[in-house]
Amino acid sequence: MLDTLRRIVLEVSATQDLQQALSVVVTRIKQSVTADVCSVYLADPITREWVLSASDGLNPASVGNVKLPMGQGLISLVSEREEPLNLDDAPSHPRYCFVAETDEEYYHAFLGVPIIHHRRVLGVLVIRQQQKRLFDENEVSFLITLAAQLAGAIAHAQASGMVLDASGHDSVHGRSFDGLPGAPGVSVGQAHIAYPGADLDVVPDRAVLDVEGEVAVFQAALDKARAEIKTLAAQIGPSLAAEDRALFDAYLMMLNSESLIGKTIERIRAGSWASGALRETIKEHARIFDDMDDAYMRERGSDVRDLGRRILVCLQSGERHAPPYPERTILVGEEITATMLAEVPAGRLAGVISVRGSSSSHVAILARGLGVPAILGVSDLPVTRIDKCQLVLDGYRGRVYVTPSKAVLTEYKRLQREEAELAAGLEGLKDLPAQTLDGISMPVYANTGLISDITPALNSGAEGIGLHRTEFPFMVRDSFPGEDEQRRIYRMVLEAFAPRQVTLRTLDIGGDKSLSYFPIAEENPFLGWRGIRVTLDHPEIFLVQLRAMLRASIGLDNLQILLPMVSSVSELDEAIRLIERAYQELREEGEDKLARPKIGMMIEVPSTVYQMPLLSKRVDFFSVGTNDLTQYLLAVDRNNPQVARLYDSLHPAVLQAIIQATEGAHKSNKPISVCGEMAGDPAAAILLLGIGVDSLSMSVASLAKVKWVIRSFKRSQAQAVLEEVLGLEDSRAVRLHLDDVLAQAGLGNLVRSGK
Ligand code: PEP
Ligand code: MG
Repeated sequence: MLDTLRRIVLEVSATQDLQQALSVVVTRIKQSVTADVCSVYLADPITREWVLSASDGLNPASVGNVKLPMGQGLISLVSEREEPLNLDDAPSHPRYCFVAETDEEYYHAFLGVPIIHHRRVLGVLVIRQQQKRLFDENEVSFLITLAAQLAGAIAHAQASGMVLDASGHDSVHGRSFDGLPGAPGVSVGQAHIAYPGADLDVVPDRAVLDVEGEVAVFQAALDKARAEIKTLAAQIGPSLAAEDRALFDAYLMMLNSESLIGKTIERIRAGSWASGALRETIKEHARIFDDMDDAYMRERGSDVRDLGRRILVCLQSGERHAPPYPERTILVGEEITATMLAEVPAGRLAGVISVRGSSSSHVAILARGLGVPAILGVSDLPVTRIDKCQLVLDGYRGRVYVTPSKAVLTEYKRLQREEAELAAGLEGLKDLPAQTLDGISMPVYANTGLISDITPALNSGAEGIGLHRTEFPFMVRDSFPGEDEQRRIYRMVLEAFAPRQVTLRTLDIGGDKSLSYFPIAEENPFLGWRGIRVTLDHPEIFLVQLRAMLRASIGLDNLQILLPMVSSVSELDEAIRLIERAYQELREEGEDKLARPKIGMMIEVPSTVYQMPLLSKRVDFFSVGTNDLTQYLLAVDRNNPQVARLYDSLHPAVLQAIIQATEGAHKSNKPISVCGEMAGDPAAAILLLGIGVDSLSMSVASLAKVKWVIRSFKRSQAQAVLEEVLGLEDSRAVRLHLDDVLAQAGLGNLVRSGK
């Protein structure tokens, strides 16, 4: 059964559209089990009907025409029960309805399995047999497994508009796709697809005009690939057995085969660029092998893909010109990384869209820092098909419109204008203190990470830097930066803000921040070797960073050092010991003007909330990292769009943890700030004010909005709002309540898209 399943899934994944996929499924199921009929009914939520969408066994003319009203019949019953229904004699069931067009009176045995995606019943998979019998357990399991696999494909096809219309055209243009809001704002721009090299699957569609030039590019890449294979064969061949050496011959044969070359050239001549044409040909070839019964032959599918990758690398190395970034680039990709962002020329980045990730991924944080709207987790977006299309990006709702209609475009251009007006209106707040109506001060600091963040942070009226993430310069290099290089970077940050405080956080790699030259491969990276765990295990890396920070602060004395991902007292002790060692070393080296920095730790691992008395004795300040605290308290991966709706820092449990940490810090007279994304959420700022945290640190783009909130409330009002929300059950209720509070205070436009 497993093998049959695997083959059906493979075959389905190779189909072009949903209709074809469903036809494959019903045919293959009917062949694999003892049944006379296999059918799929899909829900039409608008007409409230079950539409017979594919069948092997029923009258073919009934497909697409038989529509059963919801609420009646056995199909509806399967959907209502959300579990399999196995009957030996369907016609005798009280819910049975006779459907004349399908000739179904002859079928007694009935097995219906719901097709469910994210709790929504999308359809029902049914097998039937003339004879009276119950389907056995294996058959039921087989159908359940297939229905579960089919569910994702159906949901994706429906959501992405991959269903071809009657004329064979896809319907991606004029459609909208939903993801998760990553960075606020709206933007109109042009899609530019970013993709990692040597990955054929993500190569976008692109058109070429000079087809003969492109054919020549492809031929040159083939020549290069042939030469490489020959060199490889010569190098490794003598140490291989003859049958293994044959692999290289097979590669060379494929590289000369008419089917591979001819087909690709045909596609180029039809207007595709070489990489896109190669992607399609390789996919087609690999599929032929994937479908074979013989396990050895199936393996050849991998060889074809490997060969495809090799040719692609050759194509990429000979790329005549990388397509230029559009004037208003909306960067789109399966997984947008910090380096992809960094490659966009200054002033051109107008938005970011990533299929993977969520609002608390670091790329979203970077986008917020840069002040460009972003959407993440847009899992249905057909990335390869929208290169250079016009896009409208709504970072508040998490929605993107591909080739938008005139009406959508006009509406969003209006919102863009209103946003600019709102920002201009907030400009005036820059030089005013972040003080409540009753005179309590709640200083607002900036979160930074790039040198390019510094000028906007300086201009924003921030009272200093509450969190400088140091990992970005590490991420864009190909080896660890040295002490002097780091010192120069830190000095720029410290100097720009002196005498205001600057909090430099020590290296927080691991999780979703990896270094190409220091790979950390783990099953569960957010629970793995991350932050202080890595740097304590590598004192040589940690000490270089600490020395660079300390040296950078000489004469300025505005440095605070912040430690990430601390989960136990002993880690803190050890980190403090290393800071002291770096300090003493420098003193001994003659740096007698070196001042001792304040040392603080992040509260982002739940265990620390419960050890505040012990931790408070050891540090000068705390900073709550709500991004990770939320992820770890709620057991929700901050990058996983599947569970993103469960991730919300307004969850009452997260609020309680912040309250407890704040009380713990204040008992020892230690200040506590919040530097996670929650601090930049105008609604959440009311609660943090009510909780009594001492300061907030956020992306520059949020500073003015949060300051406006602080200046619009009394501390006592914020405390009352906090009391009200602590009685609520979940984050949704908390957010609705806070939206109301903001609206009543005349600040409703802070949380809506535009004014
Ligand atoms: C946090 O976890 O809230 C935080 C500020 O750190 P980072 O987002 O860099 O993990
Ligand atoms: Mg963190």
